Amino acid sequence: MRKLGSLFISVLLMGLSGCNPVSSDAQSVAASHAATDVPHALPAIEWRLATSWPKNFPGLGMAPERFAHLVDEMSNGRLKISVYGAGELMPAFAVFDGVSQGKIQMAHSASFYWRGKAPAAQFFSSIPFGMTAQEINGWLHYGGGMELWTEVYQPFGIIPLAGGNTGMQMGGWFNKPINTIADFKGLKVRMPGLGGEVLKRVGAVPVNMAGRELYGALQTGAIDAAEWVGPVNDLAFGLHKVAKYYYYPGWHEPGSNMEFLINTAAFESLPEDLQAIIRVAARAINQDMLDEYTTRNVTALETLVKDEGVELKAFPPNVLLELEKISKQVIEDQANQDPLMRKVYDAYHAYEQGVRQYHKISEDAYSQQRQH
Ligand code: CA
Repeated sequence: MRKLGSLFISVLLMGLSGCNPVSSDAQSVAASHAATDVPHALPAIEWRLATSWPKNFPGLGMAPERFAHLVDEMSNGRLKISVYGAGELMPAFAVFDGVSQGKIQMAHSASFYWRGKAPAAQFFSSIPFGMTAQEINGWLHYGGGMELWTEVYQPFGIIPLAGGNTGMQMGGWFNKPINTIADFKGLKVRMPGLGGEVLKRVGAVPVNMAGRELYGALQTGAIDAAEWVGPVNDLAFGLHKVAKYYYYPGWHEPGSNMEFLINTAAFESLPEDLQAIIRVAARAINQDMLDEYTTRNVTALETLVKDEGVELKAFPPNVLLELEKISKQVIEDQANQDPLMRKVYDAYHAYEQGVRQYHKISEDAYSQQRQH
């Protein structure tokens, strides 16, 4: 990863600033070739990337579009990646198999959707009361997380790369207030992954459905509550029109990491420079998504509260305490049933314990002080 770190910086500087990395001699050679229309130029490599998001959806959906654009630019048009939204080539949750089976070369999704195939995958998106975006990025890229993620996807013929982070999500949309843990009883809540398992233990009925189905499901009462992402994406789906209360914080997803999935054979067939471009473009997009959410959630929340009259509500501390306690039990129980999940959880937990101690006297201390 050290090698990637320095490569990342040098290639990123070249790719993002538009500086031409080639020498002036090379430039004149290239110019003369261009003038004579190089006869032996290789045709561009064409890849297909399917996502789990609606086409061009803010944040999540824009990341793969920007990634494809960056790869095109950095490779000087040698690698063309066509991006397809959920349902265009295959359903939202079929993209993992699509990449694994080589139907598509890449996908953009979130790893907790694959918990049925690989329970350990859940740690690479977000777990209830787990690490924040900043912490996850540290773990993945400098704390051994990427190596474990690669190991988890290796049997599927898939190489993972981090593909953006939404930051702290919201707790979701409800039509009745949550004052005690008992208020979850009988509620049908759209919440995928471990968060859904936690809700099941407090008597709720968790369901998973793609984002575009949420509005209709809330409107018809097929579900009682739903979490999606946060202000930018929730506003785009109009969820405030079909639910009354907007709860925070997103205890179930404190920093959801997205993923690029790459078919291993396709990746290995690329020349080394294109492989490096893919890695570096993904790393740039990974940070770019977080930066965009950090900025756009502010104005989207203002719109929801001031213009749309949404009622913001905090989960009571006793409810969060109870959910945290149950979250630990759910993760422990699942880890006890799957050796690879246990291995990844132990590594995740050890890193988290360390970073939490440091953040107590840095991020957290500052954040608490700033509230006054
Ligand atoms: Ca979510």
